Amino acid sequence: MRLCICLMPLGKLAWPVVKPLTEHEIRTAFVNCTKGQAKRLYVPRDLADRPWDDLDFLGWHDPQAPDRAYLVAELDGHPSALALRRPSPVAGQARRGMCSICLTTHSDVSLMVAPKAGKAGQQGNSVGTYLCADLACSLYVRGKRDAGAGARLHESLTLEEKIERTVANLAAFVARVTA
Ligand SMILES: [Zn+2]
Repeated sequence: MRLCICLMPLGKLAWPVVKPLTEHEIRTAFVNCTKGQAKRLYVPRDLADRPWDDLDFLGWHDPQAPDRAYLVAELDGHPSALALRRPSPVAGQARRGMCSICLTTHSDVSLMVAPKAGKAGQQGNSVGTYLCADLACSLYVRGKRDAGAGARLHESLTLEEKIERTVANLAAFVARVTA
Protein backbone atom coordinates (compact mmCIF):
# COMPACT_ATOMS: atom_id res chain seq x y z
CA MET A 1 0.00 0.00 0.00
CA ARG A 2 1.38 3.41 -0.98
CA LEU A 3 1.04 6.40 1.22
CA CYS A 4 0.25 9.60 -0.61
CA ILE A 5 1.23 12.80 1.07
CA CYS A 6 -0.23 15.99 -0.27
CA LEU A 7 2.29 18.81 -0.16
CA MET A 8 0.06 21.48 -1.67
CA PRO A 9 0.21 24.53 0.56
CA LEU A 10 -3.26 25.24 1.80
CA GLY A 11 -4.67 28.64 2.51
CA LYS A 12 -1.92 30.35 0.56
CA LEU A 13 -2.57 32.33 -2.58
CA ALA A 14 -1.30 30.31 -5.49
CA TRP A 15 -1.31 33.08 -8.06
CA PRO A 16 0.96 36.07 -8.35
CA VAL A 17 -0.50 39.15 -6.75
CA VAL A 18 1.23 42.46 -6.34
CA LYS A 19 2.63 42.88 -2.89
CA PRO A 20 1.80 46.30 -1.46
CA LEU A 21 4.18 48.81 -3.01
CA THR A 22 5.35 52.12 -1.65
CA GLU A 23 5.39 55.39 -3.59
CA HIS A 24 9.18 55.16 -3.82
CA GLU A 25 9.06 51.60 -5.18
CA ILE A 26 6.51 52.65 -7.78
CA ARG A 27 8.41 55.77 -8.89
CA THR A 28 11.64 53.82 -9.33
CA ALA A 29 9.87 51.04 -11.29
CA PHE A 30 8.94 53.12 -14.37
CA VAL A 31 10.51 51.67 -17.50
CA ASN A 32 9.27 54.09 -20.17
CA CYS A 33 9.75 57.61 -18.89
CA THR A 34 12.66 59.68 -17.65
CA LYS A 35 13.69 59.67 -14.00
CA GLY A 36 12.51 63.27 -13.77
CA GLN A 37 9.07 62.39 -15.14
CA ALA A 38 8.82 59.40 -12.80
CA LYS A 39 9.58 61.71 -9.88
CA ARG A 40 6.89 64.22 -10.84
CA LEU A 41 4.04 62.06 -12.14
CA TYR A 42 0.92 61.51 -10.09
CA VAL A 43 0.93 58.52 -7.74
CA PRO A 44 -2.19 57.85 -5.62
CA ARG A 45 -1.92 58.88 -1.98
CA ASP A 46 -4.12 56.05 -0.73
CA LEU A 47 -1.70 53.25 -1.65
CA ALA A 48 -2.11 51.57 1.73
CA ASP A 49 -5.88 51.25 1.16
CA ARG A 50 -5.70 49.59 -2.25
CA PRO A 51 -7.02 45.99 -2.47
CA TRP A 52 -3.54 44.56 -3.13
CA ASP A 53 -4.60 40.96 -2.47
CA ASP A 54 -6.95 41.17 -5.44
CA LEU A 55 -4.61 43.00 -7.79
CA ASP A 56 -2.46 41.56 -10.53
CA PHE A 57 -1.43 45.12 -11.21
CA LEU A 58 -2.28 48.53 -9.85
CA GLY A 59 -3.56 50.99 -12.44
CA TRP A 60 -4.54 54.62 -11.94
CA HIS A 61 -5.32 57.87 -13.73
CA ASP A 62 -3.96 61.33 -13.10
CA PRO A 63 -7.04 63.25 -11.88
CA GLN A 64 -5.54 66.48 -13.26
CA ALA A 65 -4.81 64.96 -16.67
CA PRO A 66 -7.40 62.33 -17.62
CA ASP A 67 -5.43 61.29 -20.71
CA ARG A 68 -2.58 60.04 -18.50
CA ALA A 69 -2.72 56.63 -16.92
CA TYR A 70 -0.17 54.45 -15.20
CA LEU A 71 0.17 50.89 -14.09
CA VAL A 72 2.59 48.89 -12.00
CA ALA A 73 2.90 45.11 -11.85
CA GLU A 74 5.26 42.74 -10.21
CA LEU A 75 6.77 40.66 -12.98
CA ASP A 76 9.69 38.27 -12.50
CA GLY A 77 9.86 39.29 -8.86
CA HIS A 78 10.37 43.00 -9.31
CA PRO A 79 7.95 45.87 -9.99
CA SER A 80 7.66 47.29 -13.51
CA ALA A 81 5.62 50.43 -14.08
CA LEU A 82 4.36 51.91 -17.34
CA ALA A 83 3.32 55.43 -18.24
CA LEU A 84 0.35 55.35 -20.63
CA ARG A 85 -1.48 57.90 -22.74
CA ARG A 86 -5.11 57.65 -23.66
CA PRO A 87 -5.69 59.38 -27.00
CA SER A 88 -8.88 61.43 -26.61
CA PRO A 89 -11.81 59.46 -27.98
CA VAL A 90 -13.80 61.05 -30.77
CA ALA A 91 -17.07 62.31 -29.29
CA GLY A 92 -19.89 59.82 -29.57
CA GLN A 93 -17.59 57.03 -30.64
CA ALA A 94 -17.49 55.05 -27.41
CA ARG A 95 -18.09 51.48 -28.41
CA ARG A 96 -17.82 48.03 -27.00
CA GLY A 97 -14.50 46.36 -27.13
CA MET A 98 -12.47 43.66 -25.50
CA CYS A 99 -9.67 44.43 -23.09
CA SER A 100 -6.51 42.76 -24.37
CA ILE A 101 -5.28 42.09 -20.83
CA CYS A 102 -8.28 40.61 -18.99
CA LEU A 103 -10.47 39.76 -22.03
CA THR A 104 -13.52 41.53 -20.59
CA THR A 105 -15.86 42.95 -23.23
CA HIS A 106 -17.60 46.17 -22.29
CA SER A 107 -18.30 49.71 -23.42
CA ASP A 108 -15.50 51.19 -21.37
CA VAL A 109 -12.46 49.77 -23.12
CA SER A 110 -10.01 52.32 -24.42
CA LEU A 111 -6.86 52.44 -26.46
CA MET A 112 -3.83 53.05 -24.23
CA VAL A 113 -0.52 53.99 -25.77
CA ALA A 114 2.81 53.49 -24.04
CA PRO A 115 5.97 55.22 -25.26
CA LYS A 116 8.64 52.60 -25.76
CA ALA A 117 11.45 52.37 -23.25
CA GLY A 118 14.85 53.91 -23.94
CA LYS A 119 16.03 55.39 -27.25
CA ALA A 120 13.06 54.06 -29.23
CA GLY A 121 10.72 55.99 -26.96
CA GLN A 122 12.78 59.18 -27.23
CA GLN A 123 12.44 58.85 -31.00
CA GLY A 124 8.66 58.84 -30.59
CA ASN A 125 7.97 55.11 -30.90
CA SER A 126 5.12 53.70 -28.88
CA VAL A 127 2.98 50.61 -28.57
CA GLY A 128 -0.75 50.56 -28.00
CA THR A 129 -3.24 48.13 -26.60
CA TYR A 130 -6.91 48.08 -25.65
CA LEU A 131 -7.42 48.11 -21.90
CA CYS A 132 -10.29 48.48 -19.46
CA ALA A 133 -10.49 52.27 -19.17
CA ASP A 134 -10.64 52.07 -15.37
CA LEU A 135 -7.62 49.71 -15.30
CA ALA A 136 -9.54 47.41 -12.96
CA CYS A 137 -8.83 44.22 -14.97
CA SER A 138 -7.94 42.27 -11.81
CA LEU A 139 -11.37 42.98 -10.31
CA TYR A 140 -13.27 42.00 -13.49
CA VAL A 141 -11.37 38.71 -13.65
CA ARG A 142 -12.26 37.95 -10.03
CA GLY A 143 -15.90 38.98 -10.47
CA LYS A 144 -15.42 41.78 -7.92
CA ARG A 145 -16.43 44.41 -10.43
CA ASP A 146 -19.26 43.80 -12.86
CA ALA A 147 -19.01 44.96 -16.45
CA GLY A 148 -22.58 43.94 -17.29
CA ALA A 149 -24.25 41.08 -19.12
CA GLY A 150 -22.08 39.25 -21.64
CA ALA A 151 -18.92 40.95 -20.44
CA ARG A 152 -17.13 37.81 -19.42
CA LEU A 153 -16.86 34.71 -21.57
CA HIS A 154 -18.10 31.49 -20.07
CA GLU A 155 -14.96 29.45 -19.86
CA SER A 156 -13.97 26.21 -18.27
CA LEU A 157 -10.80 27.82 -16.91
CA THR A 158 -10.35 28.13 -13.18
CA LEU A 159 -9.96 31.54 -11.61
CA GLU A 160 -6.30 30.78 -11.10
CA GLU A 161 -5.87 30.05 -14.82
CA LYS A 162 -7.69 33.24 -15.77
CA ILE A 163 -5.43 35.22 -13.46
CA GLU A 164 -2.36 33.53 -14.94
CA ARG A 165 -3.55 34.47 -18.41
CA THR A 166 -4.14 38.07 -17.35
CA VAL A 167 -0.63 38.31 -15.91
CA ALA A 168 0.82 36.68 -19.04
CA ASN A 169 -1.01 39.19 -21.27
CA LEU A 170 0.27 42.07 -19.16
CA ALA A 171 3.81 40.68 -19.17
CA ALA A 172 3.63 40.44 -22.98
CA PHE A 173 2.55 44.10 -23.19
CA VAL A 174 5.37 45.22 -20.86
CA ALA A 175 7.79 43.17 -22.98
CA ARG A 176 6.63 45.01 -26.11
CA VAL A 177 7.28 48.33 -24.38
CA THR A 178 10.76 47.36 -23.21
CA ALA A 179 11.77 45.42 -26.35
ZN1 LIG B 1 -9.17 44.64 -18.58
